[in-house]
Amino acid sequence: MINTIRIQFFINSFVRIFATVKRRRFGIKIDKIVDIFKKLMLDRGPLGKHANVEEGYFMFPKLEGEIAPRMKFRGKEVLTWSLNNYLGLANHPEVRKADAEAAAEWGLAYPMGARMMSGNTVLHDQLEEELGAFVQKEACMLLNYGYQGIMSAIDAIVDRRDVIVYDAESHASIVDGVRLHMGKRFVFPHNNIENLEKQLERAQKIVDETGGGILVITEGVFGMSGNMGDLKGVISLRKKFDFRLLVDDAHGFGTIGETGAGAGEAQGVQDDIDLYFSTFAKSMASIGAFIAGNKDVIEYLRFNTRSQIFAKSVPMPLVKGALKRLELLKSKPELREDLWKIVNALQNGFRDNGFNIGSTESPVTPVVLNGTVGEAANLAMDLRENYGVFCSVVIYPVVPRGTIILRIIPTSEHSLADVEQTISAFVNVKKKLDDGYYKEQKLVEFTE
Ligand code: PMP
Repeated sequence: MINTIRIQFFINSFVRIFATVKRRRFGIKIDKIVDIFKKLMLDRGPLGKHANVEEGYFMFPKLEGEIAPRMKFRGKEVLTWSLNNYLGLANHPEVRKADAEAAAEWGLAYPMGARMMSGNTVLHDQLEEELGAFVQKEACMLLNYGYQGIMSAIDAIVDRRDVIVYDAESHASIVDGVRLHMGKRFVFPHNNIENLEKQLERAQKIVDETGGGILVITEGVFGMSGNMGDLKGVISLRKKFDFRLLVDDAHGFGTIGETGAGAGEAQGVQDDIDLYFSTFAKSMASIGAFIAGNKDVIEYLRFNTRSQIFAKSVPMPLVKGALKRLELLKSKPELREDLWKIVNALQNGFRDNGFNIGSTESPVTPVVLNGTVGEAANLAMDLRENYGVFCSVVIYPVVPRGTIILRIIPTSEHSLADVEQTISAFVNVKKKLDDGYYKEQKLVEFTE
């Protein structure tokens, strides 16, 4: 009895010390354990702390009207450059018709249940076959959301003996997949192949001991910088190391490569990608995603990807809608040509006017400026209110302090006149920024 009490006392002390250390680590000064919700109110998180700045203006803005280059924001028309509707499929008449007809025929529920249990149909199979063939892979598995899909696929592929090596700028869904991994993981600086080689050496030492394997993860096109993952560079390391490669090509699918099959096709290395992933959230302008690769591995994933086994299957209107979108993506290369006409005009226009747009090789166009978070907010408000241009503003902590990125996403639907209006607006606001206008002229109060 006494021994049990002593052990309990010891455990309680340990738990208290551990809790204090943890709270100190997070910089929160609390004397005793408080209600977990109260703790959340003390520190609303890096983005949540801006929640009350001009409510609904910067955070959770509401763009209204049909998805198009010109939409309404707070009742005023704005030129919209923030939607990944690269090929203009969101509002394509054939797509809208297919979506509406499928919803009328099937409703939003059918089929009910997870795919494995009761949620399968011939059309789900057909969509997988068509997607797999399009990205030149033997087999393909539909995923009900990209985020959960890739995260859970990573979880399914590796066990604690394996090592994951991934690019530092990987999307949050990849990072979360890596966080589920119980074994070692190493990160390499963005596209740094020399450093990747070093990480692979470390990984190799570990798997030599554990008997596991190595999974390398990168992206086809990176959504912030717009540059491509150096897939060729990664693959060149196969001469020295044995590893499998998973590529998230969310922004490359439909926008680059000769047929629109993405970054692997663009770099001539599609065959060397072991697992190819993309979401329907961008070029396909819908919901859902897929992962494609060799038949046996995809078959394994069907039975082991928890986010799919334990979640409802993609509803029929989304499946029929995706079949229509894929048909248009394949049969209308002019959509991609129209997109690139706008991309080239926009990116050349920015460069010719002395803007820094980094090293983008895709439609994603980041305009990099220097200024505080407060200046960024004032500039964005000026752009929206006085120049009618709406784009995403990326600030600290997503980018380093002092950097502002205005991210422009062109689509096939934009016109050359839209490009001209935008460049001219940017020339004006950049001059104001450089002249200190947004420091003095506080259109909005924004504290860092
Ligand atoms: N990967 C990348 C690179 C993304 O940009 C996104 C966001 N669309 C996802 C995965 C997640 O996809 P989804 O929106 O389908 O959940």
